[in-house]
Amino acid sequence: METTVSSRKISYELAEFGRRLHRQGLVIGNSGNISARLPGTNTLLIKPSGVSLKSLKPEELVVVDLQGNKVKGELAVSIETPIHTAIYRTREDVQAVVHTHPPTATAFGIAKTKILPLQIEMFSQLPDGIPVIPFETTGSKALAEKIQKKIVKYDAVILENHGLVTVGSTLESACDLNLMVEEAAKVQFMVMSVAGKTENLASLKKKFKTPSLLEQNIMKDG
Ligand SMILES: [Zn+2]
Repeated sequence: METTVSSRKISYELAEFGRRLHRQGLVIGNSGNISARLPGTNTLLIKPSGVSLKSLKPEELVVVDLQGNKVKGELAVSIETPIHTAIYRTREDVQAVVHTHPPTATAFGIAKTKILPLQIEMFSQLPDGIPVIPFETTGSKALAEKIQKKIVKYDAVILENHGLVTVGSTLESACDLNLMVEEAAKVQFMVMSVAGKTENLASLKKKFKTPSLLEQNIMKDG
């Protein structure tokens, strides 16, 4: 009974956050997908194949198990489901996975260029930046395996010639991180246009990990 109530609530939230991703310009057409774990079960809710996030409805969502088999739902399972299930199998802390095709972050993937935490806010969340996962065919086992290896350390990864994947402990945090990565990619692109280069990761780590900054955080947390 409890699971039914919470799964209904999650399906409404999932559809709402999915529509928001479309409004934010992170996906167009039927591309991209979003999923969330159903607490207390080995299943997740995910956007089906052939449906646009623009008008995603709770009743369209499909329930699949952690191996990607459909458990419930009218529509077909998305070809990109293996990305989601591989992540949930690897990271027990992850409650939501968001996959989009945002233009700037995707361009960095095509250029095989890591997105760096140039802004301090991003550094606090993603201190090692966002790596690019070498190209593998959409829906392939090889792609899911490559993501699985990287997602252990990173909450956001770029798929070469494809798009972006972010994870979170809530639907909101996974969606917010997706937008944040696209914004970071825009900032990095502008810095490169203006200065011809950016600071490197070692220099950023040194700058953002100064004693005064650490002290401030300790004071704030204390
Ligand atoms: Zn995709």
